[in-house]
Amino acid sequence: MLFLLSFPHTRRNTFFHWVSGERVMSCASKRHVRSESAFRFRAVSALLPPSPPALPAVRIEYPPPDISPWIAGNCGIQGVHHFESRRPGPHVAVTALMHGNEYAGAYALQQLLMQPLRPLHGRLSLIFLNLAAYKNFNPARPTLSRFVEEDMNRLWQPELIASAHTSVEMQRVREVLPVLETVDILLDIHTMLWPAQPLFLCSMAENSRDLAYCVSGAQTNPPAVVQDSGHEDGLRLIDYTRFNTPHSYMRACLLEAGQHWQKNAAQQALLSTRLFLAQTGTLPSAPTSTAPSEPVRQAVVTDCVQALTSRFVFVQPFTSGSIIRKAGTVIAFDGQDEIRTPYNNCILVMPNLRPRRGHTAVRLAKRLNNKTGT
Ligand SMILES: [Zn+2]
Repeated sequence: MLFLLSFPHTRRNTFFHWVSGERVMSCASKRHVRSESAFRFRAVSALLPPSPPALPAVRIEYPPPDISPWIAGNCGIQGVHHFESRRPGPHVAVTALMHGNEYAGAYALQQLLMQPLRPLHGRLSLIFLNLAAYKNFNPARPTLSRFVEEDMNRLWQPELIASAHTSVEMQRVREVLPVLETVDILLDIHTMLWPAQPLFLCSMAENSRDLAYCVSGAQTNPPAVVQDSGHEDGLRLIDYTRFNTPHSYMRACLLEAGQHWQKNAAQQALLSTRLFLAQTGTLPSAPTSTAPSEPVRQAVVTDCVQALTSRFVFVQPFTSGSIIRKAGTVIAFDGQDEIRTPYNNCILVMPNLRPRRGHTAVRLAKRLNNKTGT
């Protein structure tokens, strides 16, 4: 069954929670520092930026899964497991460990690989991506093994892959690329540092949005679906040309399954993987896929706010999904700049409360009423 489920499109006002921004409004004069920016203003403000919050003390609720039986792979590439049905159908793939300390996806793949796997149709690949970073995972310093040399999920630009640039992560991209170049439908599993409800991210391509929408909508508590056009600092796997071409059959989405190292994130990763494989016709339907679903919350990212200084700080510890009612509300300071919401009812997607300079601090998004974007 390929995405044949239909879902209610009822408007619901409780998808994201509301935050009043009035108390942080400033009466100082403002001017744009970059004409192309709808959210960044230079200000002489009466407000002093608050101190940045401490990193969250996230408890490691379950240990990193032992993937040693699957490191060798079964098709000549480390960490890649490939299964053929010998019947026509798409090549479907699930990727985990793009970031070495986000092991909810590895847990999901481990659970699948412990059983005999035979796709009903097409082909299936289960891929552990950044094995080198995962090997470095240390529960005493769990945030340090996101990557070895550079963020693997910013390297999926064909020109960069073809260039002389090299790193541990770049080499791994080149190793798995021959497999990914034949994948038609992809689910890439991640988790988040800051507390947040699960959500699906996808590119602006309609087919990828439909994929995320279907996997979300089959759940009793559907994760939000957020479309964006990526990061300024490099292409993600879901942005790779093969998966990000309008009107193409190929499609991809990224699951942020929850907070790092939390059991409910591992459960969400496994549930979404099973539903994804059932909906693509790769494996039999998961029992949970028959549960009645709530409407799927959808949003589209309009602006990606990068921290231009090392002094980026939010005015309060926003959580993902916060809605700022009024346009022009100050949500953060970045050195001498104020970051203001560019429109009413602006949704904050995955705010990073301690962004490093040059990294994404938050995405600003508009709510869509239903999957057609009307
Ligand atoms: Zn990640």
